[in-house]
Amino acid sequence: MDREFTCIVCPKGCHITAHEDGTITGYTCLRGLNYVKQELVDPRRTLTSTVKVDNGQLRVCPVKSQDTLPKDRVFDVVAEIDKMSIKAPVHIGDVVIENVLGLGVNIIATKNIGAK
Ligand code: SF4
Repeated sequence: MDREFTCIVCPKGCHITAHEDGTITGYTCLRGLNYVKQELVDPRRTLTSTVKVDNGQLRVCPVKSQDTLPKDRVFDVVAEIDKMSIKAPVHIGDVVIENVLGLGVNIIATKNIGAK
């Protein structure tokens, strides 16, 4: 059965089809082709979320995964982030969770937050 994808690599959002015979059509550039090849074998996503901050000038800090995570583990990672809080001050790039769930990816802060 053919599988349809919307490429998320750039805002153009090309509609790409992976055909049953192994051919892939509809991409405009190689990044789109590589995106679909990756989706077919190991779909991955970069995660952005927020984590609670104790004693900070803001109550939450935006965080992201330092690399892509397996798509089917993203909700597990969000649940892990939701369970915890970090102490201010926070600096961009601080590791909030090292090797989250043993997936080999760190969760890092993406904003500076001073202490109260
Ligand atoms: S195939 Fe290329 S041009 Fe089309 S959305 Fe993907 S990255 Fe953008």
